[in-house]
Amino acid sequence: MIEFKYIVQALKYMVFPKRCYLCGRVIAPEEDECPVCEKEVRRIQLPVCYRCAAEKERCRCKKHRNRFVTAFVSPFYYTGKVKSSIYRLKFGKERDIAVSFGKEMASFVRKAYEGVKFDLITYVPMTEKEYLARGFNQVEIMADEMSENLGIPCRKVLSKLYETKSQRSLKERYRSGNVLGVFDVCDRDAVKNKTILLCDDVLTTGATLTECAKMLMIRGAREVMCVTAVVGIPKGKRR
Ligand SMILES: [Zn+2]
Ligand SMILES: [Zn+2]
Repeated sequence: MIEFKYIVQALKYMVFPKRCYLCGRVIAPEEDECPVCEKEVRRIQLPVCYRCAAEKERCRCKKHRNRFVTAFVSPFYYTGKVKSSIYRLKFGKERDIAVSFGKEMASFVRKAYEGVKFDLITYVPMTEKEYLARGFNQVEIMADEMSENLGIPCRKVLSKLYETKSQRSLKERYRSGNVLGVFDVCDRDAVKNKTILLCDDVLTTGATLTECAKMLMIRGAREVMCVTAVVGIPKGKRR
């Protein structure tokens, strides 16, 4: 017997056809991307630099070991179709795009963090006001999808205490100041002695993730490793 939820889903796709999360073309319900994007869009290949998430051969970072984050990884560079897809997600409010990114992040985590036993997945939170303005937290959707794919529980353990200027609007040197003291751990018991997979959408300087990880470590987490949907293209001189 066909289950009721499949009928509902089929009806949903008749009204709102499923679209390729990268280019927006209509695709079959069981696919996530169209054949063109599947061929063209480049995923980040291992080995990667765990300090900046770029491929080893493209890494130009001079980063020191991060005191709070053990590693950063990401399946895509923030460019081309991937970049416009993130834009559609955040500003066009195309919520389903976050689910597709969540799947990509999960499969990348499986390879890049092979052998790591995570106790918990969590994500960079929004304030109530920011949440209401968008109607969803795209990073929470990504984290939930990863949780389902990886079989690791996802919990909201961080809260955002104040509104901040968008990191994008600030020069790099002002970004850690902008998020300083902005986050707190709202569920301390959940983080104690835990190895945590922390996620966000875009990695540039890592200031937001580092600030969140700092709070998790202060509240007793054992280790924090990060994953983002995308990472900025490496720039600057090769070491
Ligand atoms: Zn496509
Ligand atoms: Zn690097």
